[in-house]
Amino acid sequence: MKKLYPRCHPYWKNEDGDTIKNNSVKGLAVSADDFLLPCCWLDMTDRDNEINGITYMRREHLKIENNDTIDDIVNSEEWKHFHRVLLEAPYDAPERCKTKCSKALPKGAGNEFR
Ligand code: SF4
Repeated sequence: MKKLYPRCHPYWKNEDGDTIKNNSVKGLAVSADDFLLPCCWLDMTDRDNEINGITYMRREHLKIENNDTIDDIVNSEEWKHFHRVLLEAPYDAPERCKTKCSKALPKGAGNEFR
C-alpha cells in the first residue's frame, strides 16, 4: 500500500488521522501558457493533463492574466477540488502526484492506494 503526502499542501493526515505539518511546502509554478500550477511537476503537455484528469486546472478563467490576484486562483473551486482529492480521495489523484508524492507503507498493509 502507498500513501499520498502531497508536497504542495501545508499539512497531511497520517494513518491514525493525526495532522502532520508539512514544513517544506513545494512552491507554486507558472506555465509558459500563463497558468498557475500547484507545482512544477504538473507543467505537462495537454495530452498528459488529459491522462492525469486535470484539464480542469487549465480552464480559461484560471489563466493568470484573467485574475487580479494569485489568491483568486488558489481559492477557485477547481483548486479547492484538486486539494480535496489529494487529501480526501487520494486514489483518484493524478498519477503524476501518486508517482511524485507518495510513500510505501509497511508490507502487509494491502495493495490499495491511500
Ligand atoms: S506532484 Fe501533485 S501532490 Fe505532488 S507537489 Fe505536485 S501537485 Fe502536489
